[in-house]
Amino acid sequence: MRPRLLALLRCPRCRGKLAAATFVQSPNDEAVVDGVLTCRCGERYPIVDTIPRMLPNAFAMFPEFTDRYRERLGGVPGAASRLARGKFERQLDRTRESFGTPDLFRGQLGLDAGCGSGRHIYHAAACGTEMVGMDFSRAIDSTQRNTRHLRHVHLVQGDIYAPPFAEGAFDFVYSIGVLHHLPDPARGLRALTPLLRPGGSIFIWVYSRNRRVVNLLLEIVRTATTRLPYALVNALSFVGAAVDQYCFVLPYRALRRIPKAGPLIDALMFPRVKMYSAYPFAVLHADWFDRLAAPIRFYYSEEEVERFVQEAGISDVKVTPTGLYGWRANGVRR
Ligand SMILES: [Zn+2]
Repeated sequence: MRPRLLALLRCPRCRGKLAAATFVQSPNDEAVVDGVLTCRCGERYPIVDTIPRMLPNAFAMFPEFTDRYRERLGGVPGAASRLARGKFERQLDRTRESFGTPDLFRGQLGLDAGCGSGRHIYHAAACGTEMVGMDFSRAIDSTQRNTRHLRHVHLVQGDIYAPPFAEGAFDFVYSIGVLHHLPDPARGLRALTPLLRPGGSIFIWVYSRNRRVVNLLLEIVRTATTRLPYALVNALSFVGAAVDQYCFVLPYRALRRIPKAGPLIDALMFPRVKMYSAYPFAVLHADWFDRLAAPIRFYYSEEEVERFVQEAGISDVKVTPTGLYGWRANGVRR
């Protein structure tokens, strides 16, 4: 965590400013590697491996850290007492575990809400934008490995329902393929809107209900796979990804190299195959895992997306399809 990020962070419980204590500092720059953030309300959040962990049970999530610094922490505040939680929270936990695994924005500050292992934030930052990435799951640690060399990427482990940032802090916020996995997507989007400066823009991507047959088949499969152990789902995801890779992505890449055939192949190929041909196999595998393991998937019609975004305080809403499988929606904070 660099000082720049501390200025943007707020306590997710009371919205108060936070003070940082450093246990270990990076030798290369002024970044805090291990430390703790303290709020005047009494809440504390650990900084583990450079990432502030802004969740109510964060100390319980990092027992090794909590043991190592027990003395400097002066005991650990009420982590255990907060573990008596309802079904909603357990569903959130399962959601979190299942994810464990452009020039336009130059000079601006953006938030990637639900950055996963960082495929989008990587590209946004490469375009010269300063980015904050937030994810609920330990996927944030793989984002860190993928973006370690990018100085203008900051990472936080936090919850979209209680985002740990100052109101109006961001010029733009995007959330790609995330809200539809939350138990209450509308509540998630409503929590993101105030983080935008007035006039700041938001972009989301959610699943479409138009791909009816595939969605129905997938939901039938998911009634089984969302109940299986993660190791088994992971193996099944590998098989799904390998089928995609060898039956579609690699043949597509090969066919595109045939002289003059490229445009025809592009016109005929499924959009998802074209998308995956730009990514390494790990992205395909991660998406299969998400497809089979994420406990919740909401699907939307065009009208539903439009209403859902407007009701979150966003105006000038534009919704466009990405094939039959998703919707892009963007707009600005009123
Ligand atoms: Zn507080």
